[in-house]
Amino acid sequence: MEQQFASDNYAGICPEALAALTAANAGHAPAYGEDEWTRRVSDRLRALFETDCDVYFAFNGTAANSLALASLCQSYHSVICHELAHVDTDECGGPEFFSNGSKLLPAKGEGGKLTPAAVEEVIARRSDIHYPKSRVVTLTQATEVGTVYRPAEVAAIAELAHARGLRVHMDGARFANAVASLDVSPAKLTWRAGVDVLCFGGTKMGLPAGEAVVFFDRGLAEDFAYRCKQAGQLASKMRFLSAPWLGMLEGDVWLRHARHANAMARRLADGLATLPGAKLLFPVEANGVFAALPAVAIDGLRARGWRFYTFIGAGGARFMCAWDTTPERVDALLADLRELMS
Ligand SMILES: *Cc1c(COP(=O)(O)O)cnc(C)c1O
Repeated sequence: MEQQFASDNYAGICPEALAALTAANAGHAPAYGEDEWTRRVSDRLRALFETDCDVYFAFNGTAANSLALASLCQSYHSVICHELAHVDTDECGGPEFFSNGSKLLPAKGEGGKLTPAAVEEVIARRSDIHYPKSRVVTLTQATEVGTVYRPAEVAAIAELAHARGLRVHMDGARFANAVASLDVSPAKLTWRAGVDVLCFGGTKMGLPAGEAVVFFDRGLAEDFAYRCKQAGQLASKMRFLSAPWLGMLEGDVWLRHARHANAMARRLADGLATLPGAKLLFPVEANGVFAALPAVAIDGLRARGWRFYTFIGAGGARFMCAWDTTPERVDALLADLRELMS
């Protein structure tokens, strides 16, 4: 299939990850994460984050988020999230299921982002025994509408959360795009700003599959390995989940790919801005572009074979760019739009 903009997970495996995967496929190795690749990637992630964090691997983002959140909550606790958060809108109740019932409490916020005031409002709403006790704030970085939290924005929310006895979780399905966009160190955007647990997305940045769950507060990871196993998330040939990360983290390949995806989104946004009748719905700060388009353009694009979603986030047409999106394909989309809207 030609390149599409429906999701960054339409893209294949990037060559560096594939090479690392092939390199790991050389004979026998210990199972269940006792292998040398898993150890090396975990060490590499500790170096990247400049701290002695605890690292686990899950097959996908829903599992990583659900299990990470479950490790922060008792069943009578609640998790404050943005109303557009993937954990609430796209995980089929996974976080509630794996936490045995911790309730998600959605809050509003401009551009897909929570604010300290919004979080405070939810915490202060009720403190009686009849309402679940707030225990976690979860932030999506980059957000579901393609914006990013600045380190100071994360820090302000985390400071409030910690002062109220809450933990901070980050859904980093597109963490790479956020780091590339802000050009800050991964440490500054996470634990230095107060994040306790990060789900670092691998799939959308070009791995075959898999996300890393990174605990900056090691105490929170107690028994997490058992939680993964029980949930069917302990890969027996774990080296094939972990090894591709090596290719990605070597020489900042992950950032190069994320910068490219972000640049393609920028190119698309700049083109859309020149089309009367198209309106960008959010600042384009990562690899996603959301636009309000006339029905004739949406139907016309689909009739010409373009795939994209119109139900995600706050509505509008969503176009996602990936590590391999070509400028030619972006320009072809823009040319079709220009024709359809003239
Ligand atoms: C894609 C995505 C995930 C992970 O989804 P899976 O399909 O379970 O891998 C999590 N959070 C966000 C914001 C996402 O976009």
